[in-house]
Amino acid sequence: MKRIGLLTSGGDAPGMNAAIRAVVRSGLYFGMQVYGIERGYAGLIEDKVMPLEMRSVSNIVQLGGTKLRTARCLEMLTKEGQKQAVQTLEKHGIDGLVVIGGDGSFRGAKILSDEYGVPTIGIPGTIDNDLEYTDYTLGFDTAVNTCLDIINKLRDTMTSHERVSVVEVMGRHCGDIALFSGIASGAEIIVVPEIKFDMDEIINRINRSRANGKHSNIIVVAEGVMGADDFARQLQEKTAYSVRPTCIGHVQRGGSPSMADRMLAAQFGNKAVRLLNDGIGNRAVGIRDNKIIDMDIIEAVSMKKTFNLELYETLQMISM
Ligand code: ATP
Repeated sequence: MKRIGLLTSGGDAPGMNAAIRAVVRSGLYFGMQVYGIERGYAGLIEDKVMPLEMRSVSNIVQLGGTKLRTARCLEMLTKEGQKQAVQTLEKHGIDGLVVIGGDGSFRGAKILSDEYGVPTIGIPGTIDNDLEYTDYTLGFDTAVNTCLDIINKLRDTMTSHERVSVVEVMGRHCGDIALFSGIASGAEIIVVPEIKFDMDEIINRINRSRANGKHSNIIVVAEGVMGADDFARQLQEKTAYSVRPTCIGHVQRGGSPSMADRMLAAQFGNKAVRLLNDGIGNRAVGIRDNKIIDMDIIEAVSMKKTFNLELYETLQMISM
């Protein structure tokens, strides 16, 4: 293994730059040449390939976003696009690839591995934490910390005015950002796609908390359920409390990565290159029970994401 390529694909996530740095530095450690590919699979198809040196990745460990930029690329779903991508790799003599992205990006990686024989390793980079095989995805921790910062501020003003705050967080079909930011911020209620909600029950919970001396309420709603505006309107129609919606939005995707995400980035990036150096491809790296693991990439994306019911019940018990 002499030359490896590296791309970031799908939605960006804080920690992607730190992972790029870890891949480049680990590759150089093993005497490899490392090539960065811009804008995900689109750059692979369009031959946007450049060598990355030791100093190309200086001073990026702390930066949000991705230096390689990212894109969604429909052409990669076609045979034509895939062949073009492989031609670019062949042209540059790249014989191994690291793909940082979510489950869609992993499916592209699987095709390159399986159908075209390019050993490819997936690093889970998405704020959604929607991959079952790994306890955490890169960017999730930072995104939740961003939500906490905003929810803390909302709590201040909601308490002053005795309001109910409906806060919409990201996560697509997965409720983990809502679950973790709800518990860690002391929100009274979370609404996630995995559990059917009942507006009357939510109002009962608000009433109980007010009777217990609370002056405000925070309801964290995952985007996979509905938008903050719609939820707040439905709630407002049934209650006299003053309800205010807030959609946190794309601010969750940016910002300097947390310690946890930088540590994941270092370990995921290093593990990916170790695997390629051993001639192993077609694997996804992850973390389980605090240990860095790797597994078959398609098995990894095929596992159905489970929701942590015990954590959900914990919130119900401690946030009153
Ligand atoms: P996120 O979870 O942050 O959205 P993602 O990697 O799941 O990240 P997608 O938009 O699903 O984001 O996928 C990123 C890119 O991966 C797509 O634009 C496409 O180029 C490629 N891709 C997705 N699915 C496939 C597939 N089945 N076959 C080949 N390539 C794919």
